[in-house]
Amino acid sequence: MSKKEKKIAKESQNKTIQAEVNIGMIGHVDHGKTSLTYAITGKWTDTHSEEIKRGISIRLGYADAYFYKCPNCQGPEAYGTSNKCKICGSETRLLRKVSFVDAPGHETLIATMLSGAALMHGAILVIAANEKCPQPRTEEHLVALNISGTKNIVVAQNKVDLVSREEAIQNKKDIEEFLKKYGYDNVPIIPTAAPLGLNIDLLIEAIENTIKTPSLKKDAKLKMYIARSFDINKPGTNIEDLKGGVIGGSIMQGEASVGDTIEITPGLNGKKIVTKIKSIAVADGTIDKARPGGLVAFSTDLDPSIVRNDSMRGQIASAQNSLPEPTNNITLEIKPLPRFIYKINESEIKIKEILMITIGTANVLASVAKQEKKDIYHVITKNPVVAEKGDRVAISRKDETGWRLAAYGVVL
Ligand code: ZN
Repeated sequence: MSKKEKKIAKESQNKTIQAEVNIGMIGHVDHGKTSLTYAITGKWTDTHSEEIKRGISIRLGYADAYFYKCPNCQGPEAYGTSNKCKICGSETRLLRKVSFVDAPGHETLIATMLSGAALMHGAILVIAANEKCPQPRTEEHLVALNISGTKNIVVAQNKVDLVSREEAIQNKKDIEEFLKKYGYDNVPIIPTAAPLGLNIDLLIEAIENTIKTPSLKKDAKLKMYIARSFDINKPGTNIEDLKGGVIGGSIMQGEASVGDTIEITPGLNGKKIVTKIKSIAVADGTIDKARPGGLVAFSTDLDPSIVRNDSMRGQIASAQNSLPEPTNNITLEIKPLPRFIYKINESEIKIKEILMITIGTANVLASVAKQEKKDIYHVITKNPVVAEKGDRVAISRKDETGWRLAAYGVVL
C-alpha cells in the first residue's frame, strides 16, 4: 500500500471523506444513464422527469460511489464497490471515492447539460447498442464536453443484451468512427447491460485507468461553481433559531475550511455577497476542509430567504477579491461548430440576435451588439457575469423548437 492509499484507508475508517473526481454521465435520452449510475452506485439520481412534470427548475443529479480493488485477485473482477471481494471474499482496499454527475439527456434540457459539463473531470458516454450511433444528444453531449475541455472519457456501450453479437460488433465500429470524428482516440468501449449489472467491474477498471483525479494546485484560490442553494429552516421557525442559507456546488480549484470568509459573485443587484462558512457537508457527513471533487455544501451566515429555490445557482463562491468584477459586456471570438446537427448553424450570427451563453455553470441570455471583425462579436448579457480572459463558453442559438448548441466562444 502506498502512503496515499494508507491515508485514504485510514480516513475512510474513521470519518467522512470527500469524493475526489466528478464523472459525468452523458448521452442520449433513454440510453440508460440513470440506470447505469444506479448499477454502479446503488443510488437513483433521476429527479428530472418529476421536475419536468412539475415545471420547476431542473437540477443535475449527483451520486457518489467508493471504488475498491482486491489485493489478491487479478483482472477486472478485482474491481468493485464493496469492501469484500466478490471472488475470494478477502477484504478489498479503497481506491477512491468518486462522484457521478447525471446530465439530463432530454433535448429541452441542453442548458442544464452545458452547465454540468463545466463540472466534469471526465465522463462516461452512454450509447445504446440497439440504436444507430450517433443519436442527436450523443453528438451534442460529446461536443459540449469537448468545448469545456474534457478529454478523458469511457464509452459504455449499453443494452448489449438486446442485440446480436454481429449487431454489437457493427455498433462498436460506428461508435469508434463517431469518436474519431471529434478527436477522441483510444477510448475504452465497454459493453454493458445496466439492469443486469453486466461488466460493471470492467467499467470501473476503465474509469480507474482513464479518468484520473485532477491534481490540486497548491496556491490556487478557492473557486466553486454553485449548483444549488436552499433554506433548511421549516416554515414558522423562530427568528432566533433560524439557520443561515446553504449553498452547494463543486469546487473547481483551491480549498475551503470552516471559518473562511468567502465571496459570492456576481451576487445580488450588482453587488457581491460576502459570507462566512459555518460548516461543510458532503452527502454522508460533515468535513472540516473541502477541495475539488463531488458536491459539497457550505452552511453560511446568509439570510436564508435570499438563497431559497436555487437562487444562487450559476454564481461563483470564491476567496475574497480573487475574481474579476462582474460585467454585462463581453467580447467573444465565436467559432461555429462545423456543420453539426442543427440547421441553425448554417446561418450567420446576426446583430441583435439573442444567444444563450454558458459561462462556467451559468446560463445567461445575451444580445449581439456589434461584429468587430470576422468571428469577433461584442455581446451584452442580460444579467452580469464573471468572465475571465480565455474562458471557453458554449453558445446556443434558438430555432423553432428551442435552444441548440451551435458554437463555442473564447472570452477576449
Ligand atoms: Zn479477491
